[in-house]
Amino acid sequence: MSQTTTMSPLALLGGTPAIQSDAGDLFSWPIITEADEQAVLDVLRRGAMSGFDITDKFEKEFAEWQGSRYALAHSSGTSSLQAAMFGCKIGIGDEIIGPSITYWASVAPAFTLGATVNFADIDPMTLCIDPNDIEHRINDRTKAIVVVHYCGHPCDMDPIMDIARRHNLKVIEDVSHAQGGIYKGKKLGTIGDVAGISLMTGKPLAIGEGGMLITDDLEIYERALAWGFYRRFDDSVQTSYLKPYAHLPLGGYKYRMHQLSAAVGRAQLNVYDERMAEIQKAVNYFWDLLEGVPGIRAHRVAKDSGSTMGGWYNARGHFVSEEVGGLSVTTFIDALKAEGVTGVRPGTNIPLHLHPLFNTADVYGHGKPTRIANIDDDIRQPKGSLPHSERTGEAAYSIPWFKHYRPAQIEAYADAFKKVTQNYEQLLPHDKGNPEVIGTWGLTAL
Ligand SMILES: *Cc1c(COP(=O)(O)O)cnc(C)c1O
Repeated sequence: MSQTTTMSPLALLGGTPAIQSDAGDLFSWPIITEADEQAVLDVLRRGAMSGFDITDKFEKEFAEWQGSRYALAHSSGTSSLQAAMFGCKIGIGDEIIGPSITYWASVAPAFTLGATVNFADIDPMTLCIDPNDIEHRINDRTKAIVVVHYCGHPCDMDPIMDIARRHNLKVIEDVSHAQGGIYKGKKLGTIGDVAGISLMTGKPLAIGEGGMLITDDLEIYERALAWGFYRRFDDSVQTSYLKPYAHLPLGGYKYRMHQLSAAVGRAQLNVYDERMAEIQKAVNYFWDLLEGVPGIRAHRVAKDSGSTMGGWYNARGHFVSEEVGGLSVTTFIDALKAEGVTGVRPGTNIPLHLHPLFNTADVYGHGKPTRIANIDDDIRQPKGSLPHSERTGEAAYSIPWFKHYRPAQIEAYADAFKKVTQNYEQLLPHDKGNPEVIGTWGLTAL
């Protein structure tokens, strides 16, 4: 870092912004080329938008890419997660255990099945479900653990799978933030019993609106087919108890993927590994530059762990306020923005256990809150019950989500971060602290 940058006053206090040049397409996503356009035009011109010839191919390619036996293309990530829950036989009066720091669709579909959720706390470093906060929540009603590889970071799957196997629970992976990521050599989505994966346009693997269910388990696959795929739920199903019901969807849903999305999906998947590798290189370079800077910690896997971050969906950083005089994350972010840093926001998802949907809403007219409608215990979790989840607002923030490895540009962003943290003392007298709630219910900025 150059002396002049250190000495120049912070832009928030009237100095010159550290970043002077336009970001260009550094953050633009998805990258659309002629291959995407041709694939879409082909479907459009054939009038095959509701067909499934292209979707069939996409499923086969996706399953092969994941290394899973089955892939079932859905209309959304949300529907793929609901189908995964139905696939795992989650029903009336059952419970799932899942993280509170996630997008609602990881867990809320349990309500539609008459089930409910018991939230576990997160590990403050991975921002993923804490394996040590799961087991004591298991009871006779518990059927599954939902894990979310949050903002690209793989969950610690070994202890989670161990708990699940000992208690005969299913594990549902929500891979909506980490497509292509790896945990100890294994592709995310292939470690649990089934995975639901959002492929909507805000996500790393961005195809339009769509989702993918992947599994190696024939029964889960066929239950998902039976749930929302009336055309494909036919006499060929092998699960005998499903056979009498063929041809009409058990769920009453129609979940097949729009073929325009499938067409974009094939084109995007074709280049995804290459583009993800560039994102890996870019974001890791950014964090390498900031190694050891007070107040700043990377949210990433250790280099020798055999794990990777996938597409770094909405990449995050940890903010260590104690190392910068107790500065608030809010003022830290305001100072970064003034320096010309885009894409930074304080917090993560707001913890779901604090939302009225999980406390007071009576969605289906049971005469009591849906959260506890089909069970005898009150498992609602008040403020204060999940301390790490409730602290992410002030302890984490989004960093610029680099899509290209352009060292000079990335260095300028890292310099802006250093400029703010090195001059934190100038900010302290102006720091108004954090608002009571930090973060957003959803992360995707469209
Ligand atoms: C986006 C997202 C979903 C839902 O996917 P949609 O395609 O938007 O329905 C589910 N889980 C997580 C963690 C997500 O970020």
